[in-house]
Amino acid sequence: MDYVSKEYIELIDSYSDAQSPDKGAPFIPYVLGKEVSDARGDDSRQVDAIVIGAGLGGLLTAAQLLKLGKHVIVLERLSRSGGRFTAKNFRGVQVSTGAVHMVPFGSSGVLSQMLRCLHVPHRFFDADVFGSFHVHGRQYRARGLLGVFKFLNPYQIFWFLRIGYLMFFCPLPQHEHTLPFDRWLERHIPIERNQQLIAFFQSISRFALSLELSQISTAEVIRITKNMLRYGAPAIVQGGCAGLTKQLEETIISLGGEIRLGYEVRQILHQDGRVAGVRVYNKTNGEELRFIAPLIVSDIGPRATSALFHNQQITQADVLSKIHAYPEGTRQTNDAMERSGQVVSHTQPQEASDLSPSVEAGVDCTCSAPISEAIGLKVHILSDVSLITHKGIMYCLDTKRIAGMVQPTNSDASLAPDGKHLLISHQVIQSNNIEEERALALADLRMLFGETFDTHCRILTMGTYRGEWPVNRLAQGTDTSTQTAVDGLFLVGDAVKPSGYLMVEGVAQSVNCFLDKLFQTPKGHTATNQEQKMWQVKNEATPPSRLNAIRWLWKAPGNSGKT
Ligand SMILES: Cc1cc2nc3c(=O)[nH]c(=O)nc-3n(C[C@H](O)[C@H](O)[C@H](O)COP(=O)(O)OP(=O)(O)OC[C@H]3O[C@@H](n4cnc5c(N)ncnc54)[C@H](O)[C@@H]3O)c2cc1C
Repeated sequence: MDYVSKEYIELIDSYSDAQSPDKGAPFIPYVLGKEVSDARGDDSRQVDAIVIGAGLGGLLTAAQLLKLGKHVIVLERLSRSGGRFTAKNFRGVQVSTGAVHMVPFGSSGVLSQMLRCLHVPHRFFDADVFGSFHVHGRQYRARGLLGVFKFLNPYQIFWFLRIGYLMFFCPLPQHEHTLPFDRWLERHIPIERNQQLIAFFQSISRFALSLELSQISTAEVIRITKNMLRYGAPAIVQGGCAGLTKQLEETIISLGGEIRLGYEVRQILHQDGRVAGVRVYNKTNGEELRFIAPLIVSDIGPRATSALFHNQQITQADVLSKIHAYPEGTRQTNDAMERSGQVVSHTQPQEASDLSPSVEAGVDCTCSAPISEAIGLKVHILSDVSLITHKGIMYCLDTKRIAGMVQPTNSDASLAPDGKHLLISHQVIQSNNIEEERALALADLRMLFGETFDTHCRILTMGTYRGEWPVNRLAQGTDTSTQTAVDGLFLVGDAVKPSGYLMVEGVAQSVNCFLDKLFQTPKGHTATNQEQKMWQVKNEATPPSRLNAIRWLWKAPGNSGKT
């Protein structure tokens, strides 16, 4: 792998190794905001709410609870907040820990709405195109949906329109809801003569969801597509993921909240079916302390939450070893999915189910199926020349692995050094042979950009995202509920994405769902004035007008034209 420096490998390891995330770097834990005073005179401190994990879900939750007048503490085991939605500066480039600096529904989406409501300063640069499509050896730019006619032949255009009609104008029969989307396409169009059309759906699903078409149900595809058409185009975040995380941190501190970095939660304390607090390990001095609270919101996913509830720890190595132990031939097929009425990732090890929360475990995350995360491989490239000429996504229909690419510096040039262009590619990991997956990514880049790639581009990072640092903790459509069987214990984040809401839009919507559930659960709880007002309000966002979809025909809707 001559393109990738050792320095980069260490950088990426520091993201994805969940057990020793800051390996190689001096660890400096610190407290952002006002430190909670010792409320009991012993080694326990009392607050109204504890948030486990300072990922985007945890930070948004903390800000919302602070707005309700609660005394909140966020505990994060790493030395920075943001989780998979932040970045490190690597040779002047904003190298992200997960997200490609992009939010799926842009400036009209659920995340943007929530940030506005919390008064978090932010700016999203909406895409100026529906996308471009690399096919037949070249890139076709599609300003709106009709732009795809540039690369489809008349026969395929007919079937494209037919699919659109079935998806948006006909009610989906009940028996087709759980049908994997590849099966649904097979049922409704002649596959052999529509290869470009299949590749079109495949590349979008792989880029946006990190799933194969066989891993996602037809109902979920339709819900997501309708939401995308109603909300708007994806956007690049000004300052990248780290810029937004910093603004959120500042908001939390200004609201009187506290974020403790370098504090790893080791156990969720509970009594008689209710949460009582957490046991925490301070990574600087090795001290253990307890925080007491009647409300705990976990942003670390059901598997890790369940483990903490049982005073166990989940390691990245544990999870990956389970995945590797899973024999190729015994993975769940889409036939099995169809029979069980549930979409479960092919990459999911059956054995992982014994790590997943269960009713027996007491943390009923309504997740009776094995945990099925979405996994991916992402490449950061620095180029002397611009390779994508718009602010949207270039979908790759004629590649072996890379599903899509973005050039975020087209929206915010400060994400890379002056005169340079940052490109990020994303693909689904399709086998356990990671070296081969990387080699195929490189081969794709050479195919896409030819000699220009060798002459003008340098790979900065090439990282895999799986186990406890995946693209999605639960694959789209297999998400669990925010409420658990334990009083006072809730989940937020990318394992709690409501149907139709993907990636960080799903994370923001999970926080809305948590707020709705919180207000529905007033057992033994005296509401503050702010709470009583909020009681009346439904937090879960509803999509804008269906008529918005019409705009997509000729242009991607968003604010890019105004800036
Ligand atoms: C390669 C890749 C590309 C992506 N691209 C996009 C994109 O373009 N657009 C998009 O919208 N989304 C994208 N995503 C998804 C997005 O990054 C995630 O949905 C989102 O960041 C998840 O946020 P979260 O708060 O749910 O979890 P996390 O970000 O994982 O936050 C959880 C936090 O909890 C901490 N933690 C864990 N255990 C403990 C413990 N015991 N004690 C204390 N703290 C703990 C972790 O360190 C972490 O900081 C991408 C993800 C990946 C990996």
